[in-house]
Amino acid sequence: MSYIYSTDAAIDCSKENIVDVIVKNCRKFKDQTAFIDSETGNVLTFQGLLEKSIKISQILERKFHYKLDDVVALLLENTSDFWTIVLGCLFSGIAVHLFNPNSTSYELENLITRSKPRLIFASDLSLVRALETKRQFDFVENVVKTGKPEAQNDFFYLDALVDAEVIDEAFEPLEVDMESQVAMIMNSSGTSGLPKSVELTYRNLTTILGNAWHPNCLYKTPKDTTVSFCPFYHISGTIVSLLTMISGMVSVIMPKFHGKKYLELIDDHRATLLVMVPPIADFLVQSPLVADFKLDSVDDVVCGAAPLATEIQNVLSKRLNVKVRQMYGLTEVTGITTLTPVTGTSKIGAVGKVVPGIVAKISPVKTEVPETIGSYTLGEICFKSPAVMKGYLHNKTATDDIIDDEGFLHTGDLGYCDNEGYFYVIDRLKDLIKHKGFQVPPAELEDLLKSNPEIHDAGVVGKPNRRTGENPVAFIVLRPGSEMTEDEVKKFISDRLSREKQLHEVHFVEALPKNSTGKTMRRQLRERLAMATEDD
Ligand code: AMP
Repeated sequence: MSYIYSTDAAIDCSKENIVDVIVKNCRKFKDQTAFIDSETGNVLTFQGLLEKSIKISQILERKFHYKLDDVVALLLENTSDFWTIVLGCLFSGIAVHLFNPNSTSYELENLITRSKPRLIFASDLSLVRALETKRQFDFVENVVKTGKPEAQNDFFYLDALVDAEVIDEAFEPLEVDMESQVAMIMNSSGTSGLPKSVELTYRNLTTILGNAWHPNCLYKTPKDTTVSFCPFYHISGTIVSLLTMISGMVSVIMPKFHGKKYLELIDDHRATLLVMVPPIADFLVQSPLVADFKLDSVDDVVCGAAPLATEIQNVLSKRLNVKVRQMYGLTEVTGITTLTPVTGTSKIGAVGKVVPGIVAKISPVKTEVPETIGSYTLGEICFKSPAVMKGYLHNKTATDDIIDDEGFLHTGDLGYCDNEGYFYVIDRLKDLIKHKGFQVPPAELEDLLKSNPEIHDAGVVGKPNRRTGENPVAFIVLRPGSEMTEDEVKKFISDRLSREKQLHEVHFVEALPKNSTGKTMRRQLRERLAMATEDD
């Protein structure tokens, strides 16, 4: 088997810890703007970022007595506080478990009982669920809400804690073992099953950022500005924000995507870098609003998280008069594995070349897919790098299933690499639906549906959709005598799972196609959907 390396030399990231790089940069960029909160207009300078983060680190250690190896959870939308909290934790060697702030109690339960955070940081949006979780689980000792104090409550206000804290002049981030110490925990279902907790170490983050900030990848400077709407709790939003902290780039934060506001922010702040997911690329291609704004400052567009249609890539590139680069990666490899290089051709349909510091191989697959495409070998795309996760928290079986004996992580994506080193993702072998770039694990919906006494069996698949990428669709076998309707099935899900995981269609069937081991054959369900669409 042959291995595919980057043609750009890897940067040696073995000596410096990302946290030290960020501290050094905050001191260097001092009064320059790091983050602008587009909702409040608040500006956070690099010095401000550093000071608030140090205070949070001190509060965690002194007031709450948290220490190395403890975990705190974040249920926060995109705000600058997100990063002061994350840095504060990293300065003390405390791991941050990041959650979608809209996570329901059902979604939180499975994951939070694995990481057992002692503290939850919440916002107005997530406070009720954070307090519910604290009542439910003894290991959660405290809840801290972002923002200014309003009234006496059974939780703390971040700004009140910070205002009362004085920075210790001798402060230095705690020295940690970069190889083994977990910095961030993110959620992903990987190649199968329920959502799991991905443990990312300081080494993982340092490697990916050191190499991403390469002239042929995502080299940015304080002259650059980006508008950040990709959720910070997802690896894409994390990477862009950390890029701000290592490059001095300005990040204009959007808590929630809104088309007109996005265009206004690009125009007002003369944004140079846009990192997006395919539905946003489609918005920029389709929306007549685009003509009302000056977007000529944009000189770099990077799109990832899900397949980008060639037509959208082409039209967007012409519309913005800029190269639209594709990025492909996954949480388990700290986000970026391939990227269209800055120099060289942007090959249509390709997701770019491996970034420095990552090795790839195409591994044979056992399913009934062709072994070649043209003259190229088709197989499962696999990556090896110091950016490969430490593992799934408390789930050795799932970790061993996804990382092979050579140390390569199997992505569950089917693809090939051409003779110039460009990668193409052809299909997903794994059980994962991507709706607007968000992960929707079919197993999670199926398990929940099957817990309903009226449902005998359920299969969930993604139906291709131009705007969203894929929409979750369920095939349901009802128990004899049940008269459950489509709306009732949808409501059963909407009462328990967050927005991205909602069912768009429900099909009632007599039985689901099963293989010899009794596993639902989702490929056949997808084929049924495709046939039904053709018939329409
Ligand atoms: P996540 O861990 O949420 O980032 O999801 C990773 C998965 O998203 C990958 O394994 C792919 O299936 C899919 N993905 C990410 N980027 C791309 C891309 N540029 N093209 C096609 N699929 C992608």
